[in-house]
Amino acid sequence: MAHHQWFALFLTLSCLLPALYASDGDADPIYKACVEHCQKTGCVENKCFQHCNFSSDGKPVDGPWYLQEPLYLQWKQWDCSSDCQYHCMLAREEEREKVGEKPVKYHGKWPFRRVYGIQEPVAVALSALNLSIQFHGWVSFFILLYYKLPLRADKKTYYEYTGLWHIYGILAMNSWFWSAVFHSRDVELTEKLDYSSAVALLGFTFILAILRAFSVRDEAARVMVAAPIIAFVTTHILYLNFYKLDYGLNMKVCLAMGVAELLTWAIWAGVSHHPSRWKLWVVVLGEGLALLLEIYDFPPYWGFVDAHALYHAASIPLTYLWWSFVREDAEFRTSTLLKKVK
Ligand SMILES: [Zn+2]
Repeated sequence: MAHHQWFALFLTLSCLLPALYASDGDADPIYKACVEHCQKTGCVENKCFQHCNFSSDGKPVDGPWYLQEPLYLQWKQWDCSSDCQYHCMLAREEEREKVGEKPVKYHGKWPFRRVYGIQEPVAVALSALNLSIQFHGWVSFFILLYYKLPLRADKKTYYEYTGLWHIYGILAMNSWFWSAVFHSRDVELTEKLDYSSAVALLGFTFILAILRAFSVRDEAARVMVAAPIIAFVTTHILYLNFYKLDYGLNMKVCLAMGVAELLTWAIWAGVSHHPSRWKLWVVVLGEGLALLLEIYDFPPYWGFVDAHALYHAASIPLTYLWWSFVREDAEFRTSTLLKKVK
């Protein structure tokens, strides 16, 4: 292709890009006019905020240097334009509600109400709760293995999957931590950290599902299973972080791995005679239904509870049941191995 053709292609693409990011809400002319007015005056209706007196690097637009915006406000990246967008959105949504119209998305997100500067307080609280349930499950698993069940002569556990569940617990807690951070303030960095940790967790649980369901105990065989999945997941995370944060592609990758993992557990629960297989069934069904919430996206009730928040709520009881399955699996394997020894 000649140079000018490349240039034409680039121009076409750059015209299409803003269209991809625009939502119904921010295409609304009343909203647009409000944001424009606000950026000039620093006020929406009677509400005025000081950010509009500062430029984006925190320096005052006019006035002496000591009028710098405090650091604790700068790091949150609340600036004039994001404050204007937020308050214009609330004002516009209030008007829309009065005439009985349903909420619309703004810049790709539902209109959430902030609480103390936290963007999605319900999702943050639920992420924190998930984190604590994961921690409880992880600790109780290790107490069971190292203090309640018998150990081998070399102080190792009889259960062959101890190390794998250990990594799972750490990845899960890491993922919930970044989920809480991301929902309290979404900027590019927190979003990437949340997405990357979620993908890493999903990839690892997929490996774990295959290893446990097929009883892969041999070290070399485990590496053979894990290596291609780790390579794929790593490539995907690098792609999201350093090439393009493609939401559609990420959704497809996560859905494919999630469904493959759930199928692995479900088939195993169907064919094995595991004493706790009903717990597997409940978790697989529950996760499947929760996934529907992620796909069927609805606007937040009272500005707080949306489909994604409910998805996080659903994983709390499922996580509890999940760790109780893991503990019973450890007991089951240990007693089987001990019977063999005797
Ligand atoms: Zn989330």
